[in-house]
Amino acid sequence: MWGSFTHSQKDLLAHLHSRINLSERVKNALLTIDRGDFCPKNPYFDGAQAIGYNATISAPHMHAMALEYLSEKLVNGAHVLDIGSGSGYLTACMAKMVGGTGKVVGIEHIQGLVDLSIENVLKNHRDLIESGTLKIVQGDGRLGYPQEAPYNAIHVGAAAQQVPEALFEQLAIGGRMVIPVGGKNGQEFMQYDKISADKIEKKRLFGVIYVPLTSQAEQLGQ
Ligand code: SAH
Repeated sequence: MWGSFTHSQKDLLAHLHSRINLSERVKNALLTIDRGDFCPKNPYFDGAQAIGYNATISAPHMHAMALEYLSEKLVNGAHVLDIGSGSGYLTACMAKMVGGTGKVVGIEHIQGLVDLSIENVLKNHRDLIESGTLKIVQGDGRLGYPQEAPYNAIHVGAAAQQVPEALFEQLAIGGRMVIPVGGKNGQEFMQYDKISADKIEKKRLFGVIYVPLTSQAEQLGQ
């Protein structure tokens, strides 16, 4: 089952690998970035955990699957956008996969989580930030982050009622976006491939439950 307890990143990976056929590249990224640096409680349990501000770090199997779906785009030199970067865990994994010449931007609307995620990455992967491979900015991810567009890969870690138009615009031709789409009771994890300037191919992957892509006031119950 998904919710199994393990006691180290290595054991967590063995558990994930028994469920999902992980590619070497994704396995290496997940092994290199220790969830213990990003998750305050039960980091090696395969479930989502609270990280404050009504946000969660997604379950390890969701991080693993998101990386697998995006992996052919997460190559050396790629530009990547991680919307709702939260703990920074997936942002760091993607930064590992795009190598020294690539760039991953995490965008998160809660400043406290931006600060926390940067602290998390600095614990063991200061090089990713100092080299400029990874950066995390505060902002409304529904608008994307046009400054570094177009993106070869976009990951959205929060559920949208509808895909914001800006994200399709900021996707490179040949690029791929994965995003949970639907209401608060459940969503479809969707994959969008931008074939040409005006052609998007979409694919339903599976059902998921994510926290909403919303405003700060709504998320914080203000
Ligand atoms: N990938 C993250 C998921 C965090 S949960 C992780 O695994 O750690 C979803 C995140 O989306 C939360 O951190 C939440 O604060 C953020 N979020 C929600 N709406 C947003 C918006 N409009 N713009 C940017 N971030 C948003």
